[in-house]
Amino acid sequence: MKALVIGAGIGGLTTAIALRRHGVDVEVLEAAPEARTSGGGLGIASNATKVLRALDIDLAAAGVGRVCEHFRLCTASGRPLRELPIRSIAEELGSPVVNVRRSDLIDLLRRSLAGTPVRHGAEAVSYRREAEGVSVLCADGRTLAADLLVGADGIRSVVRAQSAGPEPVHEYGYVCWIATVPFRHRRLPDGGAVHYWGSGQRFGLIDIGGGQAYWWGTKNLPPEQARRWSGGRAEILRSYQGWAEEVREVVARTPQESITAVPAQDRSFLESWGDGPVTLVGDAAHPMLTSLSQGAGSAIEDGYALAHHLARAGDVATGLRRYEAARRERARSLVAASRRLSRLEQLGNPLVVGLRNLALRYAPASVVRRQNIAPMRCELPS
Ligand SMILES: Cc1cc2nc3c(=O)[nH]c(=O)nc-3n(C[C@H](O)[C@H](O)[C@H](O)COP(=O)(O)OP(=O)(O)OC[C@H]3O[C@@H](n4cnc5c(N)ncnc54)[C@H](O)[C@@H]3O)c2cc1C
Repeated sequence: MKALVIGAGIGGLTTAIALRRHGVDVEVLEAAPEARTSGGGLGIASNATKVLRALDIDLAAAGVGRVCEHFRLCTASGRPLRELPIRSIAEELGSPVVNVRRSDLIDLLRRSLAGTPVRHGAEAVSYRREAEGVSVLCADGRTLAADLLVGADGIRSVVRAQSAGPEPVHEYGYVCWIATVPFRHRRLPDGGAVHYWGSGQRFGLIDIGGGQAYWWGTKNLPPEQARRWSGGRAEILRSYQGWAEEVREVVARTPQESITAVPAQDRSFLESWGDGPVTLVGDAAHPMLTSLSQGAGSAIEDGYALAHHLARAGDVATGLRRYEAARRERARSLVAASRRLSRLEQLGNPLVVGLRNLALRYAPASVVRRQNIAPMRCELPS
């Protein structure tokens, strides 16, 4: 059996690794001319590190990223609001949360795929159902054929657009700046993640190991401006005037060209991810806001589940429909929870923000634990 996977992001690569383990021949097509070396970091939560371990990929053992041991929520000025019990959550779930540079994770996944072709500069433009299987047309005129097609081509997926029809993205009226930079600070503990919650604005400062930090910052803006943000570091620094010193320091130390801006977007939840020999994984299937830090995690879960159900089905279409059915409700709940959390995080009214922060500070420990652990629970399909 041969599979074509469109997109060599975290979802596509994990799917390819999982399919290979079940003996499926895989070819990955990636539009970008070469592997990405830039971009920010990611929190790979316990659910996803557990799935990766089932694929013999152990981030902590591979020395990729840093196991998260402390998770603190603060006000904008850096006053602690709450410690989240990240270590005991990881212990209960039996799998760590690991903060990584995105390009390091991609690199590790690619090494695990050794021997499987990943074709760069191969931009898929459309696919066609054939009497047997499916064919994909690339922008350079090449046509490739396979028994099944996996659209792992992100939020602007061409596979999704063809199978589900064109649809607009939802915009949430804020921008997210991201970067990684060599950085240490006495207020960023080893293995630490510190989130600062302001009014219509947040910041995250995260140790990703090796003396490197990943930071992200958000700011409410009209959707049009969030989509086309082209300001510079000085503008970001102005946005964080009066915030904790480490926030301003890490931005000031980041070269302008290392900062990427991404608008906050997702899409309406798609009930049907495919038809016949075609399906979707990751952001192509269920793009979600970043608030819950589960977009890449759920793409990893998808890839594992897809290969599992395909290997157990008598034919391709049955395997893919079983995969979609097995993943639909979990993905739906993560998309919805990300939206709910995003609304709370980006509140702009200072009075309401004050109440939110009080609630964060005094919420019972059992409630905080339950809310944080829920998205990180995942059972491997059996
Ligand atoms: C600011 C920010 C912070 C985030 N933080 C976290 C986090 O902490 N934890 C977490 O789990 N998730 C996080 N996410 C979400 C996560 O990045 C995504 O959910 C994840 O990258 C989705 O992976 P994917 O492989 O589905 O899609 P993508 O990463 O978008 O990969 C798609 C790939 O397909 C390629 N492609 C696109 N079109 C074509 C085409 N036509 N032909 C061939 N190739 C194509 C692209 O070049 C790309 O390589 C964050 C996202 C953002 C924006």
